[in-house]
Amino acid sequence: MRKELPKQYDPTQVESQIYQMWLDSDCFKAEPDPDKKPYSIVMPPPNVTGQLHMGHALDSTLQDILTRYKRMEGYSALWLPGTDHAGIATQIKVEEELRVKEGKTRYDLGREKFLERVWAWKEKYGSRIVEQQRKLGVSCDWSRSRFTMDEGCSKAVREAFCEMYDKGLIYKGSRIINWCPHCLTALSDAEVEYVDKPGHLWYIRYPLSDGSGDIVVATTRPETMMGDTGVAVNPNDEKFKHLIGKTCILPIMNREIPIVGDEYCEIGFGTGAVKMTPAHDPNDFEVGLRHNLDVIRVIADDGHINENGGKYNGMDRYECRKALVKDLEEQGYLVKTEPYSHNVGTCYRCHNDVEPLISAQWFVKMKPLAEEAIRVVKDGTIKFVPERFSKTYLNWMENVHDWCISRQLWWGHQIPAWYCDECGHINVSREDPTKCEKCGCTKLTRDEDVLDTWFSSGLWPFSTLGWPDLDSEDLKYWYPTTDMVTGYDIIFFWVARMVVSGMEQMKKEPFKTVFIHGLVRDDKGRKMSKSLGNGIDPLEMAEKYGADALRFNLITGNSPGNDMRFYVEKCEAMRNFANKIWNASRYVLMNLTVEENGLPDAADLEIEDKWVLSKLNTLIKEVTENMDAYELGVASAKVYDFIWDTYCDWYIELTKARLYGEDEKSKLAAQKVLVYVLDQFLRLLHPFMPFITEEIWQAIPHEGRSLMLADWPKYDENLNFSVEAAHMESVMNAIRSIRNRRAEMNVPPSKKSTLYVVSDKGEIFRQGTGFICRLAYADQVIICDSDPEGHENMVCVVTNDAKLYIPLEELIDFEKELARIEKEKANCLKQIAMFEGKLSNEAFVSRAPEKVVAEQREKLEKNRALLAQLEESEKRLRR
Ligand SMILES: [Zn+2]
Ligand SMILES: [Zn+2]
Repeated sequence: MRKELPKQYDPTQVESQIYQMWLDSDCFKAEPDPDKKPYSIVMPPPNVTGQLHMGHALDSTLQDILTRYKRMEGYSALWLPGTDHAGIATQIKVEEELRVKEGKTRYDLGREKFLERVWAWKEKYGSRIVEQQRKLGVSCDWSRSRFTMDEGCSKAVREAFCEMYDKGLIYKGSRIINWCPHCLTALSDAEVEYVDKPGHLWYIRYPLSDGSGDIVVATTRPETMMGDTGVAVNPNDEKFKHLIGKTCILPIMNREIPIVGDEYCEIGFGTGAVKMTPAHDPNDFEVGLRHNLDVIRVIADDGHINENGGKYNGMDRYECRKALVKDLEEQGYLVKTEPYSHNVGTCYRCHNDVEPLISAQWFVKMKPLAEEAIRVVKDGTIKFVPERFSKTYLNWMENVHDWCISRQLWWGHQIPAWYCDECGHINVSREDPTKCEKCGCTKLTRDEDVLDTWFSSGLWPFSTLGWPDLDSEDLKYWYPTTDMVTGYDIIFFWVARMVVSGMEQMKKEPFKTVFIHGLVRDDKGRKMSKSLGNGIDPLEMAEKYGADALRFNLITGNSPGNDMRFYVEKCEAMRNFANKIWNASRYVLMNLTVEENGLPDAADLEIEDKWVLSKLNTLIKEVTENMDAYELGVASAKVYDFIWDTYCDWYIELTKARLYGEDEKSKLAAQKVLVYVLDQFLRLLHPFMPFITEEIWQAIPHEGRSLMLADWPKYDENLNFSVEAAHMESVMNAIRSIRNRRAEMNVPPSKKSTLYVVSDKGEIFRQGTGFICRLAYADQVIICDSDPEGHENMVCVVTNDAKLYIPLEELIDFEKELARIEKEKANCLKQIAMFEGKLSNEAFVSRAPEKVVAEQREKLEKNRALLAQLEESEKRLRR
């Protein structure tokens, strides 16, 4: 039974019904199928804490389009969804709830009870974003949905950690890490955002111990100086060479510290001498290692000065800075202060200044892992779309530092390391150990820390397919995955880590193509943000205009890797497009008398049929090419133009006479072509606008249970009628030009006229007479070899293969038209005089707001232009 289409299209109602229909008939389910080619995308898992925003909407739409396209092309297409536990983000949410509702901290509950709370929170809210995704029509295989902390993913994390630890690729060590004193956790390099901030450069005098003078250092961070354990100079610096080996006195602290020679100091940069604080600066730490300098930490985890800070103990780091500078000045150590802006690392979550400090953490040794990750991008095994992002990736990978993976949180994958209370040995193991593998002691204490969220998401392309079980059918069939769709903002966080993990754990790239998209900005080009209040809720848009309209808006005109602006009006325009398709489809169905879909015999095809089929054929070829090249925005725009212009505005008009005519054979052929082309473009449009296309497709004659499982249209050499199509275009050009000219002249369609066609392709126009009469409002068409008699007094329109003449008196009533022009001219002149008067009045021009004056000028110009136009028309009439 075919569906009937109601008069009005109601997206909200249709979309939820269609989605349920897809779910009920298992349309999203993917199966490894040896007879088909595999295609797969793993979804970048949104945070369980997340609410769907415009960025997600774009990301999901792109993935859905690719998946639907490949599914229709005959691939066994899997789009695997899931969510991320999002360590810090989730923990903060639950801690906040705990604080507000019960006035408690996580420490009041203890680790176990607190984690129970987080799981409960996840159960309650974790599916919210999934529900929201469904509203957009995403065709993921929900039966394969995963969570980064589910049993399988946790097993994968443990396996990867142990493997890498055994190979020495994961180690525990004291290093300078980025510490957020607000979030109280270590951050990876990628989690630090650098912001240019105004600051100062303080020049401080350190007296030499032997009383022979002093050495001046410059610093942006005086509050760390209590931790200074040396001063470094370049060994080739003539100015300082002689001081190497001597000592100086650290002001305020009165501690004797060595002066060392190290190439790290640049000659001529600053004062040439650099104070060394190995506990709070990564470069100083390295220098310190080379010269055996002490490491003294003076800033505590919470950003306050600790007991090593002497009289400043307990002060906040910035408070200490002020007090210290004041003391230095009073005691005569401050040489000078200069304004100096510099890059300050800030926490990507809370935006507080990050504190580099020395800490015992877990690290992944990145250098050896980066080699393969670099190779696969360089040799094209993994391609970036657009290409330019491979440079961003390579640049980062080539300069990568060891990755700090431990986080001082409770929510996440706890590090599988146990310290022996007896001998201190670290036991890292796939199973929870009961005794120390070294001394057999049973008193073991597990490491408190959890892993960076990105550690588990780095494994996502294979942990979700069954790894570490190498016999997993899914893993064997769909790994390496095909496309990875993501924003350029997480290339380092995520893409880079997936490649590293894929190459290390699977020995194979995690995906073939990384398809990068930009950000969705507001209509003024600003980032959508909570603080600006300029965010647009995708669900609200879907509710109002339909998810199809939202999707089409996000895709059309969007090019890979570039940011886009979101205009609400465009959603409205896309809803109008949906309505246009709806109305055209209803018209076709109302006039349809056949029950199956198929083209008529070639002999029964008329010229306009051949024209539309040729256009469709070209469209299929081009759109398929665009899709394969990830030019989704170009593809969607072409489909749009075909439907709106070629099909609705032209083909339907061209065939109207046949549908209402007496020639049964011709009528039937028109019906068949109408419904055939409709079916084909519904298929092409389906990946972009899945709902309305499915709804209409269910109402036209079709085979199969769903459009989403139907075949993608194929280019067909037999449907190329280039000669007939060109003839049709000639006739259409003539019609278009006449209609434009008549519109310019305000001639109503009811006013018919004779039309002379002068062309060396007379036959084409003779055949097109029917169309010209009906669509160019002619009552007779006369084909001639040369200009007709009296053509000087006719309106002439020229196309690229014809000259068209219309006797002027047939179009307009001279006297009436002249009178109208005269009246309009008089009105125009009056306006011009008025504006000129105003604008020549100095008092007005000087006192009125600039905007008002500009408006008046603009109106004056408009009237002048109108006058010129009227005079032109008058001249034409009088000629
Ligand atoms: Zn923070
Ligand atoms: Zn032991």
